[in-house]
Amino acid sequence: MTLLSVDGVTKRFGGLAAVSDVSFEVPEGTITGLIGPNGAGKSTLFSMIAGAQRPTAGRISFAGKDITGWQPHEAARAGVGRTFQLMRVFGSMTVLENLTTAAHLRHRTKASARAVAERVCAETNLGSYAHRPAATLTGATKKRLELARALATSPRLLLLDEVLSGLTPTETAEAISLIEQVHAQGITIVLVEHVMQVVMSLCPRLVVLDFGKLIFTGSPDDAVKDQAVLDAYLGA
Ligand code: ADP
Ligand code: MG
Repeated sequence: MTLLSVDGVTKRFGGLAAVSDVSFEVPEGTITGLIGPNGAGKSTLFSMIAGAQRPTAGRISFAGKDITGWQPHEAARAGVGRTFQLMRVFGSMTVLENLTTAAHLRHRTKASARAVAERVCAETNLGSYAHRPAATLTGATKKRLELARALATSPRLLLLDEVLSGLTPTETAEAISLIEQVHAQGITIVLVEHVMQVVMSLCPRLVVLDFGKLIFTGSPDDAVKDQAVLDAYLGA
């Protein structure tokens, strides 16, 4: 079943088409890699799916509903979770408070939000940091919290924007196993990532953007043989 459908979506900033007439579908239960050079429009596309930016044109459907132009909290409540390339954790709040705040988007009572936050905290190995202010965490742990915050909204679709960037090889391996664990729970994932080895191993499907335009959808094996993809991104 198709969970997410992006149909002719365009986003203009003044004269610049950051995303230009992009269409693709994401089947439920899959991991899709969204790749392309810096400035290709990946984060802008995530923002439109998650309701942070309204498309200039086109339609976004999620679980059969037209969610085009929905507000972020509406998209979150419908089941769209996302991380931000520039992290949005609240530094003065503890890890558990950050997670409880995120869980509150989906879980209305304090007790249920707190219970979800505690579960996600344990699942993401943040238990030992639960009562520390987020500002005191190291970069890698803060990135884990950013992912945990998205998970605390109990998403059906998780949009991950460069959650592995800046991590050491050990931290990367830990983050990949966390993503695999999340996927094994049945959560559909779209992942923006620059390290091609990671993309190739995690994502059986790729969507490639270049200058706002979709230039490829298909398997990693076909992507590495595709001239447009090689020219735009994988070559050199
Ligand atoms: P990516 O995530 O693929 O690196 P972005 O989606 O961040 O690309 O950006 C796509 C293009 O849109 C870039 O040229 C960027 O400078 C531009 N852009 C992104 N957000 C804004 C904005 N709020 N206002 C103006 N231009 C923007
Ligand atoms: Mg980006």
